[in-house]
Amino acid sequence: MKLTRKNFLKSTLLLGGGLLLPVGKINAMNKFLNEESKLKVIRGNAGIYFGGGGTIGWYSDTDGVAVIDTQFPKDAEIFHIDLKKRNERKIDLLFNTHHHKDHTSGNYYFKDYVDTIIAHENCPILQKERNTEKGKEELVVTANKTFKDKMTFELGKQKIHAYHYFNAHTGGDAIYHLENENVVHMGDLVFNGFYPVIDIDGGASLTGWADYLNKVIDQFSDDTIFIYGHGSNAIESFGGKEPLKLMADYVIKLKEFAEKEFKAGKTKEEFMENTSIPGVTNRVEKWPGALKYNLEMGYRFVSEKM
Ligand SMILES: [Zn+2]
Repeated sequence: MKLTRKNFLKSTLLLGGGLLLPVGKINAMNKFLNEESKLKVIRGNAGIYFGGGGTIGWYSDTDGVAVIDTQFPKDAEIFHIDLKKRNERKIDLLFNTHHHKDHTSGNYYFKDYVDTIIAHENCPILQKERNTEKGKEELVVTANKTFKDKMTFELGKQKIHAYHYFNAHTGGDAIYHLENENVVHMGDLVFNGFYPVIDIDGGASLTGWADYLNKVIDQFSDDTIFIYGHGSNAIESFGGKEPLKLMADYVIKLKEFAEKEFKAGKTKEEFMENTSIPGVTNRVEKWPGALKYNLEMGYRFVSEKM
């Protein structure tokens, strides 16, 4: 079967268990989106939670529960209530994909429910440096177990592999692979259809970002389901490799465009006047001025970091 978006979604929904419907894809999709809970099964015992921050990934079975990213404290609590309806078991492992507040602020809520928080070794440093507000230091809850390049965690029958390859969206990005379901949480290495956040001051690298994505594209099969850090709804927040390829293409084209204009003597302000990036498939502004901000970050990357 050719892995089109349609087939992919269909097989995903059918494999999801509990989502098997004798009706058409549209009805299945509508049900998926309209269900009261924002907690969704995507395959086997793995799923997502689409809420007020970066997409949460989860794994829940009788012999283990894992959560990847935590959004904000209120979202974390709502998610946890839904998760507990599926499984009373405590959370064994909590993972962070990177330090940004919309992925880690909910750590503060989870600190009372989990003993082990895992992240790339740079993530807690960046969290403390960049997320801490004066007088509110206790709100920043960081990982107590970190890894450098690669680490594997065992949870009953499940193996969860953590990988860090390069600086990319930040200086501390991790991806996590749930081996049994073959689901990979990509964190903010993928903004599906949106202009991304490019955290130059937090260690981002446009070349590292593309290299990271290309390594992941080679590493995993066409059957792998990827969870994207941001999508416009629950359905758009997971899927196949195509958004990874588009993202890799986007960051490289942004870098090449910035490099060309920088070498031609354009100032940052002049470069930011551009209204498109040559050769790039159009992306949506998740917030006003997102393209201008991307141009600024592209220019800063080639003028400061290369
Ligand atoms: Zn982010």
